[in-house]
Order: sequence, then C-alpha cells, then structure tokens
Amino acid sequence: MSLSLIAVAELLVMPVKALILGGTKDARDIADALVARGHDVTTSLAGVTRQPLIPSGRVRVGGFGGVQGLRVHIEEAGYNVLIDATHPFAAQISANALHAIAGLGVRHIRLSRPGWEMEEGDQWVSATSTREAVDHLPAGSRVLLTIGRKEAGVFLDRPDLSGVVRSIELPTHEIGSGWTLILDRPPFELEHETSLLKDHGITHLVSKNSGGGATYDKIVAARQLRLPVIMVERPRKGGGEVVNSPADVIALIDQM
Ligand code: NAP
Repeated sequence: MSLSLIAVAELLVMPVKALILGGTKDARDIADALVARGHDVTTSLAGVTRQPLIPSGRVRVGGFGGVQGLRVHIEEAGYNVLIDATHPFAAQISANALHAIAGLGVRHIRLSRPGWEMEEGDQWVSATSTREAVDHLPAGSRVLLTIGRKEAGVFLDRPDLSGVVRSIELPTHEIGSGWTLILDRPPFELEHETSLLKDHGITHLVSKNSGGGATYDKIVAARQLRLPVIMVERPRKGGGEVVNSPADVIALIDQM
C-alpha cells in the first residue's frame, strides 16, 4: 500500500474508547489487538489474582462497587463500548454490566466462548452447580478438583473424599489431609494432565465447562483413561451483542 493510502486507511479508523471486563486470555487478546489498532482501551481486572498477566492499554484493578459503581465509572470515563470478555462462570459482573449501561447508549459486546461438547469415550455427569457436583461423587472418590479457588469448600468438607485441588490462587477454604494443593496456571498439556491423573490415583475429575483450549487437555486425559468427569454447566448470562471469539469482537469494532 502506498503511503497516501495508508494515511487514508488510518483516517478511516475511528478510535473507540473501550472498557474491557477481563480476567481471561480472550480479554488480553482483545486488548492487545485493539491497542495495536490505535483504540483507547482500559481492561478491568477483579483483583483476585496476585500476579495477573497484564494486557496492553490501561488497566484498572478491583470491584466497582456493584451496578451503580460500574455505571458511574462508565459515565465518568466516557467509554462508548463495553466489552464483556469475562470467564463464562463470572456471572455477577456480567449481570452488573448489563444493568449498569442501561440507557447510556454504550455499545455492549459480550464474548461467549463456546462450551465443550461431549465426544465418544467421554463419561460426563452433568451438574448445574458445584453444590450439585459434589453429590455425584461416590464415597471414597479420589478427585481432581479444577473449579477455581472460591467453591472448593463443599468438596473439602466431605471426609470421604480426597485427591488434588488445583487453582491459580490459594483456595478460600482450608485444605485438609488427604488433599494435595497444586497452585498452577493454564495452559496445561495432555502429557502433564495424564501424569497428574495417574500419579495421584484420580478416579473422578470435577471441571467447569469453561470451553477454550487452555484447560481442555484434562478432559482428553480423562477420556483416554476412561475416568468420569463431573461437568459443571455454565450459568446463564444475558444481554449484549454475543460473539464467539476475540476475532469476532475485533471485527465488530472494525465496523464501527
Ligand atoms: P463474579 O462472581 O462475576 O464477580 C464478583 C464481583 O467481583 C463482581 O460483582 C465485581 O465486584 C468483581 N469483579 C468481577 N470481575 C471483575 C472485573 N473484570 N473487573 C472488576 N471487578 C470485577 O466474578 P468471579 O467469578 O469472582 O471472577 C472474577 C474475575 O476472574 C473475572 O474477571 C473473571 O473473568 C475471572 N475468572 C473467573 C473464573 C471463574 O471460574 N469464575 C475463571 C477464570 C477467570 P463489584 O460488584 O464490586 O464491581
């Protein structure tokens, strides 16, 4: 492209002022791509991870103080786009976002990464919540628990269960004897996941249906070892223009 054509193309890109609700790799990918395109981007992190991976652009950390706090923040900063790229199980912040922008004229784009589908060889037991998931585990199960730091308590409180708790941050509930704590961050590869399941004599995997590639190999490993998976299904999220991938988000912004 000649220099003059590049200049015209740049003139055609109207920078947006975007707030990304983040805490996911997808959110980082979106921020990096939008900043590279010259947009004004702020990513918001909940502040629960001590050493978060930082995206390009501005970053703010910590809760907004509910719907009203988020609304005030959006109005004061003058964003014209809100991109909800939070984890599929982060239901509260997504509901807050939906209500906070009502009537503000802010474009609302919501990334909903597709969930995993059962494949031949999978032995999934579906649960609508982590509380329901714990009831699907037979007495004496050796569990690999990969549902994050907040909801491990109901499993750890059952004296007949043992196994491995894996999370990025320290769980909020005390880890009793019989359980091994592994603090680690995805992505995890198949060989690693297979060894983990074998080395700890795991009989059941408990997972959220998070979708995406970074944590999928534990599902493949369980399939290959013929282990049952208690799969916690996603909470409902509503509102916004729903897209499936970071690339779809970028495409929508490019059209603005
Ligand atoms: P949540 O239950 O939906 O939100 C709880 C509260 O945390 C919200 O009301 C809000 O506080 C604050 N919050 C959440 N996400 C925020 C963000 N991006 N920026 C500012 N404040 C935020 O969320 P969660 O399940 O605790 O997840 C917290 C963060 O971790 C999310 O950003 C999510 O993307 C990421 N994450 C969650 C999971 C998971 O399994 N839940 C997994 C991986 C990553 P105020 O009401 O005070 O604004």
